[in-house]
Amino acid sequence: MTRGHRHSRAPHGHLRRAALAAASSAALALTLLGAAGAQADPATAPAAEAPDIPVAAVQQDLKDLQSIAEANGGNRAHGRPGYRASLDYVKEKLDAAGYRTTIQEFTSGGKTGYNLIADWPQGGTGETVMTGAHLDSVTAGAGINDNGSGSAGVLETALAVAAADLEPSKHLRFAWWGAEEQGLVGSRHYVDSLGEDELAALDTYLNFDMIGSPNAGHFVYEDDPAVASVFTEWFRAKGIETEASEETDGRSDHASFKSAGVTVGGSFTGAGAVKTQAQADKWGGTAGEPYDSCYHSACDDTANIDEKALDLHSDAIAHAVWQLSS
Ligand SMILES: [Zn+2]
Repeated sequence: MTRGHRHSRAPHGHLRRAALAAASSAALALTLLGAAGAQADPATAPAAEAPDIPVAAVQQDLKDLQSIAEANGGNRAHGRPGYRASLDYVKEKLDAAGYRTTIQEFTSGGKTGYNLIADWPQGGTGETVMTGAHLDSVTAGAGINDNGSGSAGVLETALAVAAADLEPSKHLRFAWWGAEEQGLVGSRHYVDSLGEDELAALDTYLNFDMIGSPNAGHFVYEDDPAVASVFTEWFRAKGIETEASEETDGRSDHASFKSAGVTVGGSFTGAGAVKTQAQADKWGGTAGEPYDSCYHSACDDTANIDEKALDLHSDAIAHAVWQLSS
């Protein structure tokens, strides 16, 4: 996640929140009606359940990203060799799984940056559900929680799509962004490169930036009530009451899509903000400490991960991808 001014809560914040909650209930009612309708129609098969994403595979990706950083001066930052090595690592796995991959180049700060785009060749060709994570770290360290975690969770979800030979009714596209830490540069470049029709074909963009924070919170982007409910209902079924993700507002790649009018969503386990007592009571962890005290620091390495949070939020990615694309 990129640095930015924390948004102070608007004085009418609780009113906005009440409106969102009401909209969310309405969206849920519609979803339930829609599901009942689908069951009544024998021609419409119910959506397949997403598989469990093995956390061991996500952890292995994080170890590999750590090794890539160590072999390349200690980081995976924009314009540094560790970034391109990270991109090649992800691309090789996607190519082997049958994805059509594209590397998109751009320039930021006088250095070449790269986005990796991967299209799943099966399923619908119209509306697209896109899921992304920034792959660059800051120069201070290996960037394993920020954002090896989101990158690996999205990668393992993409590989699970391939393993399931999924034929969703919507088109699935995945992305790993460059130069997010320079101010969302890669994702902005991608959105700017789209034609009007391509932009209109984007049904939803899901973003994952920090999903293994060591003093984890469980946050859901509330930009769109219907997409948010896909996450909140899933977490609730696991006994976890999520909160609105405010720390990510305008500070990760979904902002590039949202400002172009695309519906966005995602989940998040917290960055430099401090866990409250109420949050520690319901989620565990330590009140009065940041969700990630190694945020943007040299200690953001493989030890800086809460495996339970990583496991949970990786499964949440798969659930949302399956549900929103079916
Ligand atoms: Zn960051």
